[in-house]
Amino acid sequence: MKDLLGKKFKCNYCKDIHKVEIEDIRYGNLDEFCKILDRNTNYKKLLILCDNITWEVAGKKIKENIKNNISIPLILKPKNEKRVTANYFYIEEIKKNIEKIDIILTVGSGTITDMGKFVGDKYKIPVISFPTAPSMNGYTSPVCAYIKDGVKITIPVKPCKYVYIDENIICNAPIELIKSGFADSLAKSFANADWKISSIITGEKFCTLPFEVVSSAEKKYINKGSLILKRDKKVIKNLMDGLNLGGISMIIAGSSSPASGGEHLISHFLDMYACQRNIEPFSYHGLQVGTGIFLSALIYENIKKISCDEISKKLNKIKIDYDEKLNELIYLFPSSEKKLKEIFENKIKITKKLREKLPEKWSEIKNSVCNMVYSSSKIKNYFKKVSCPLHLKEICDNKSLINKAIKLSRFIRERIVIFDIADEIGLLNELTEEYLKM
Ligand SMILES: [Zn+2]
Ligand SMILES: [Zn+2]
Repeated sequence: MKDLLGKKFKCNYCKDIHKVEIEDIRYGNLDEFCKILDRNTNYKKLLILCDNITWEVAGKKIKENIKNNISIPLILKPKNEKRVTANYFYIEEIKKNIEKIDIILTVGSGTITDMGKFVGDKYKIPVISFPTAPSMNGYTSPVCAYIKDGVKITIPVKPCKYVYIDENIICNAPIELIKSGFADSLAKSFANADWKISSIITGEKFCTLPFEVVSSAEKKYINKGSLILKRDKKVIKNLMDGLNLGGISMIIAGSSSPASGGEHLISHFLDMYACQRNIEPFSYHGLQVGTGIFLSALIYENIKKISCDEISKKLNKIKIDYDEKLNELIYLFPSSEKKLKEIFENKIKITKKLREKLPEKWSEIKNSVCNMVYSSSKIKNYFKKVSCPLHLKEICDNKSLINKAIKLSRFIRERIVIFDIADEIGLLNELTEEYLKM
């Protein structure tokens, strides 16, 4: 990781120049961190951004320990929900509090970090991240996800300048958040495979480095779920490294492609559903993503078995009624109609291209992606050790919604994912039926 931080270099794989803007990721403890902040004369006025929970976990103590510089806490409190989620109305609240601020210090996990990055990017204020849980890869990623008018939006933002991790704090985070980070980190092989397919079909850029960067880190914790449950410090630190490298892999790629594929759309779909009905989220981000990973694994497994002759036949046999799909989506997410229509239109264009190219590119696709991903039985084994939900029914008791999430989530983002191929060849319908009986 140290070799990448703050570096600009020519890539051995894609020959482009990559630049990792994060200056440093350091482990230590809260007191040392406050001393570092206090010594830095550029940080005259700090905004300590946290929510009601992370204020108690670390925010308050950081505020007390900063002596030389001015620190202003902004403690977000849940509005009509149990915990603060990344909703645009909190971002507006942060915007009102950043006058003359030199640095935003995010004390929290995904929600707080993403919203801090959003505001920091908009007002050109550097962001320092103080993670409270190894729950996702946003501490180092160059994107932020939030909900506005009921739609889940992911936009590019400047990554944090500096990440400072107190090992004791992340090891003592709620276990569901740690599990969430574990599951989220396992998305990368599937996301990279989806990205590779997309590059084969559309000609968009693909680089192997993001996948390389995360693969070796993953080996240090993927099979150690039982130690994670015991809060083993070394393994949790390895998980945190894996997550942070996942974020860096997105900086290298210049997009969320290497960390967020079709598996993430399942999670975004559930978030949108909960948000538009004013109900609590079904689960944490990573745990929702985990169920998407298992689905992706099932699809990839089946894709492997389809020959080049069969693919054309299957494509010809299936005629999807796209208008009906769009109507179903709008019925589910009425307040996002305009945005969904826009995305849908582009998705249909790209799907046409996919259908055209699939027969000639089929062997290339199979050869290059099928061994990038884990089998469903491996995923099952890894998830079991850390008791992560595998099936959507473990986090959602609405069977019809599960059915819709699997069949429609591909239409909430333009990028090609494995669910697109599965749907266009009729595999998705077959698999969903089996899946619902599991
Ligand atoms: Zn490259
Ligand atoms: Zn994620």
